[in-house]
Amino acid sequence: MAPSLLAMTCAEMERLAVELDLPGYRGRQLFAAIFAKNRRQFAEMTTLPRPIRDQLASRFELDRPTVEARQLSADGSRKYRLQAKDGARFEAVYLPEVAAGRKTNTLCVSSQSGCSLGCAFCFTASLKRHRNLHASEIVGQLMVVRDDLEALGPEAQVSNVVFMGMGEPLLNFAEVVQSARILMDGSGLGYAPRRVTVSTAGVVPRLADLGRALPVQVAISLNATTDAVRDRIMPINRKWPLATLIDALRHYPLPHRRRFTIEYVLLDGVNDSLDDARRLPKLLAGIPVKVNLLPLNAHPRTSLASPPAARVAAFQTELRRAGMNAIVRTARGRDIAAACGQLGDEALTPAGAADVRG
Ligand code: SAH
Repeated sequence: MAPSLLAMTCAEMERLAVELDLPGYRGRQLFAAIFAKNRRQFAEMTTLPRPIRDQLASRFELDRPTVEARQLSADGSRKYRLQAKDGARFEAVYLPEVAAGRKTNTLCVSSQSGCSLGCAFCFTASLKRHRNLHASEIVGQLMVVRDDLEALGPEAQVSNVVFMGMGEPLLNFAEVVQSARILMDGSGLGYAPRRVTVSTAGVVPRLADLGRALPVQVAISLNATTDAVRDRIMPINRKWPLATLIDALRHYPLPHRRRFTIEYVLLDGVNDSLDDARRLPKLLAGIPVKVNLLPLNAHPRTSLASPPAARVAAFQTELRRAGMNAIVRTARGRDIAAACGQLGDEALTPAGAADVRG
């Protein structure tokens, strides 16, 4: 398969131009044509002379993932079931939101087709088999969703991108970093670093690498306050237990005035006690965080349940009493199985796909 131009930064395209004996600015024009002007075909890149377009077309591709299905939620969110050329399937979710009078339209992208982590509360994790997505397939998710949103008018623009879809971003480190660089490239899409969030279940060694590579926003799926519970609901904790994860956060090169987002899925009778709520601030003492409490979204592959609303409120109150910034996230797109932990269906990963376990 020809390499994809959706996986190259502006600087890389400039180098490519030079390799092709062209002036460097031709690379910048190419990048702008794809990402700023949204040209889908080489023939549409009218800033480039025809022979250059032909040369590029013979060596590179510009293909985007195919939209297999699109589901619209009553709350305005949209789930896209996408397919790569080899049949690998993955999903992206658009979440328009008005919070504190400000509009935030978030796109949740997948980093893998399926997931290897096996977290007890997550549907995607039950799919097991997967392959890593290529940077072009991650960037491609944004490109196809942007195109689809055009029909909704100028208000519907993706303002934030979160790597919270299918898969564990830090088990696909190089492609995730490359795709984030492309999203943040000022000559194209130009997302500010704080508008791009990488979420991880805690691949500790890669966390330090992420901090060195990119100033993006970081979210940690913590979900428990003891190793006994975390081992049980997130098998990755057996490899990198809480103390090593928290230590990595302490040493992370957090950009000025930035906080980690701590995600905490509330599970009835598992991690939702007042003792948990008291342990959490102690565990994270001295680390700048904001906590997102996510009452479990139900799905067919878990017997775990969401706590009663009163316990969710009590948990939040206890965190606030300890001075933590804690909000309860309202689930979005539950009616179309687009909410956190609901992505994927049994047929998502084609038979025979590589089984890449992290
Ligand atoms: N693997 C990465 C990226 C996925 S983010 C990570 O774990 O961070 C998906 C988020 O949804 C995680 O914070 C996870 O804790 C949360 N989640 C998973 N299943 C859920 C469910 N059933 N209900 C609510 N949140 C869930």
